[in-house]
Amino acid sequence: MNEVVNVSAQGDIAVVTVDSPPVNTLTREVRAGLKAAFAFLRDRKGVKAVVLACAGKTFLSGGDMREFDTGVQEPGYHEVLRLIEDSPVPVVAALHGTVMGGGVETAIACHYRVAQAGTKLGLPEITLGIIPGAGGTQRMPRLIGLEPALDMMLSGKPLSAADAAKVSLVDTAVDGDVTTAAIAYAREIAAEGRGPRRTREMPVAGADRAAEILAARRAQVAKTYRNRNSPNVILDAVQAAVELPFDAGIVRERALSNRVERAVEGRAYRHLFFAERELRKIPGLPADVQSRKVAKVGIVGAGTMGGGIAMCFANAGIPVAIVDAKQEALDRGLATLRKNYERSVTRGSLKPEQMESRLALIRPSLDYAALGDADLVIEAVFENLALKKEIFARLDAVAKPGAILGTNTSTLDIDAIAAVTQRPQDVIGLHFFSPANVMRLLEIVQCAKTAPDAVTTALDIAKTIRKVGVVAKVCYGFIGNRMMDPYGREAERCVMEGAAPEEVDAALEDFGMAMGILAVYDMAGVDIGHLTRVERAHLLPKDPSFYRPSAMLTERGWLGQKSGRGYYRYEGGKRTPDPEVAALVRAEAARLGVPQRKPSRQEIQERCLYAMINEGARILEEGVACRASDIDIVYTAGYGFPGYRGGPMFYADTVGLKVIYDKIVEFGRTLDPQYWQPAPLLERLAKAGGSFAQWQAERKI
Ligand code: NAD
Repeated sequence: MNEVVNVSAQGDIAVVTVDSPPVNTLTREVRAGLKAAFAFLRDRKGVKAVVLACAGKTFLSGGDMREFDTGVQEPGYHEVLRLIEDSPVPVVAALHGTVMGGGVETAIACHYRVAQAGTKLGLPEITLGIIPGAGGTQRMPRLIGLEPALDMMLSGKPLSAADAAKVSLVDTAVDGDVTTAAIAYAREIAAEGRGPRRTREMPVAGADRAAEILAARRAQVAKTYRNRNSPNVILDAVQAAVELPFDAGIVRERALSNRVERAVEGRAYRHLFFAERELRKIPGLPADVQSRKVAKVGIVGAGTMGGGIAMCFANAGIPVAIVDAKQEALDRGLATLRKNYERSVTRGSLKPEQMESRLALIRPSLDYAALGDADLVIEAVFENLALKKEIFARLDAVAKPGAILGTNTSTLDIDAIAAVTQRPQDVIGLHFFSPANVMRLLEIVQCAKTAPDAVTTALDIAKTIRKVGVVAKVCYGFIGNRMMDPYGREAERCVMEGAAPEEVDAALEDFGMAMGILAVYDMAGVDIGHLTRVERAHLLPKDPSFYRPSAMLTERGWLGQKSGRGYYRYEGGKRTPDPEVAALVRAEAARLGVPQRKPSRQEIQERCLYAMINEGARILEEGVACRASDIDIVYTAGYGFPGYRGGPMFYADTVGLKVIYDKIVEFGRTLDPQYWQPAPLLERLAKAGGSFAQWQAERKI
C-alpha cells in the first residue's frame, strides 16, 4: 500500500501489516498506508476477514508527538479509524508489545482484539496533559464500560493483556505468535458468520449511574491532580460519550482535545518529552564516540547513597562490589538494602527469588582490591574533599586501566578530585539523588579533563539503570543544588520576615512543588545544608540573616525528622507545625533588625521561583547546563517541580521573561538588593522580548 503498510492474503483472510520501525508510531505515512489498505480491501471480493498486525517489537505504539505542534497532517486519525471500523468484514487487531494512546484507539476501532501475553495497553494521555483524542474517550467507555474506561484514562496506567481481557478490552490473550493466532481467530469468526462488531454502536455500560460516577471522579481529580485541567477535560469528554450519539461525541472530543493540546499543561509535558531526547547532544562531543563497556561496577561507601546506587545496578542485573572502611558500616548497609528489597516483596512488586538474585549480585568487602575488575567505580563516602582525594588516589592505584571513576559528591570540586589521579580523563561526577534507587535523575558532571567517551558511557549507564542523565559542568552545586540555593534562601528569608514555615511550604506546594522546601530540609537533615554553608562561609554573603533559621535549628539539634523536630514536629511519624520555631525565628529577626512584613502566598512563590530562575539564567550563560530544557529535566525529574509547568525555565517563558525581570528589579528595590540582581542573560532576553526556548533554538547545539 505504501512503504510502511502492506496487505497480504492468507487464504480468504487479508493481513494488513504495518512495518515502521522502531515502534510503529502512527505517523502520517502509517495513517496513509492504513487508509489505502482499508480502502482497497473494502471493495475486495472473497475477503472474509481482515487482521491488522504489526512487524517488529510492538503493535502501533501511539500517535506522533511531533504533530501536536505542527498540526495533524492528512489523513487524520478519525478518517482512518472510521474506515477501519466501517469495514464490511470483521477486522481483528493482533496486539503485542506496548500499545499506547493512538495505538489503543486504533485497536478499539477494530472489531475484535487478540493480544499476546505480555502486551501492555494504556491510554497515558493524562500524563502528557492531553486527552485521548482519536475517539478513545468515546469508544473506550462503550467497549469496556464507564468505570473501567475512567480508571484507564484517569490513571494513565497500562493494563496487562490478562487484565485487558478481564474488562473485555481484548477478546483473547494468547501465547506464541500473535499474528498467526489472530488469523486463526479471524477464520473462526468468519466461519461462525459473526460480522463486524462496531464499538461505536455499543451502549455505555454504567451510563445509568453516570451522574453519580462522574461527580465522584470530579471530586477525586480535584484532590489528586492539583492545578491540572486535562483530567477534568477527560471527564467532560467521557460525559459526552454518555450523553451524545457517537458522531456528536466525536465532534465534542475533538473540540476538547484541541483546547488541551494548546494549553500550557499539554505544551509543558510535550516540552519535557522532547527535552529528554536532546540530552545526549553535548557541545564538543563528537557524534561517533564509542562508549565503554560496563559489565561490573564497584562502589565505595555503603551508606545511604552507596546502598541505593548498588541497588540500581543490581536491579539492572549488573554485579556490584561494595567497599566500606568498617565492617559495621558494611553490615548496616547490606541490612538496609535487604530491608528495602523486602519492602518491595511485601508490596508485591518484587518476587522473593528476584530479591535473592539481586542481593547475590552485591558483594561486600573491606578490601579495595575487590574494585580491581570493575569497569566503573562510584565513590559515595562522606562529603569531605580531603577524604575523597585520598580515596581517588587509592582508586587510581587499584582500578583497571580505562575504568571510569565516578564521584557522587553533591558540592565538591571534582576537578580537584580528578587532579589527584593519573587519569583525570576517566573521572566524572555521577550525582545520584536520595533515595538513589527511586529518584530518576542522574546529574553527570563533566570535568575539565573528562574524556568524551566517559561522558557517553555515563549517559548509557543512566539509561541502563533507568534514569535520566543530564550533563552538567563543574561548579558549586552543579545545576540542581546551585539553583536550590537562592530558592531556599528566599524561603528562609520569608520565615525571618514573619511567615510561618508551614505557610511558606503551603505556598510552594500550592504552586505544585511535590514538597515544601522546609519540609524537604527536615527530611534530608537541616544540618546537611548548614554544614556546607559553614565550610563555604568565606564565599557566602556577610548577611547575618542568610539561612539563619537553618543555622538556629542546627545549633539546637533540631535537625528534622531524624531528631523528631526541625522546622516541624514529628510525632508518630506525623508532621505538625511548631509555633515554637516561628516564635524563635521572630525573636532572632527582631535581634537582627529584619523588618516584619509577612509576605503573601504569591510573594513567597515569586521570590522563591524567580530567584531560582534567575540562577538558572546564570547557569545557562556560564555553560554549566547546555540547554534551558536540560534544567527543566533536572528539576522535574529530581526536585519535585511540577511537570505540568514544564520545569523552571519553561515556566519562566510562560510567565514572560519581562514580567520576571521587572519583578526581580522591583525586589531589588524593596528587598535586599545584594540578592536581586537580574542575570545578564535574563535581562537581555527580557528587554528583547525573547524567551529561553528561542535562545536555545537559536544556539542549535
Ligand atoms: P553516609 O554517611 O550515609 O555514608 C558514607 C559511607 O562512607 C559510610 O558507610 C562510611 O563508613 C563510608 N566511608 C567513609 N570513609 C570511607 C573510606 N575511606 N572507605 C570506604 N568507605 C568509607 O553518606 P551518604 O548520605 O550516603 O553520602 C555519600 C555521598 O553522597 C556524599 O558525598 C554526599 O554529599 C552525597 N550525596 C548524598 C545525598 C543524600 O541525600 N544523602 C544525595 C546526593 C549526594
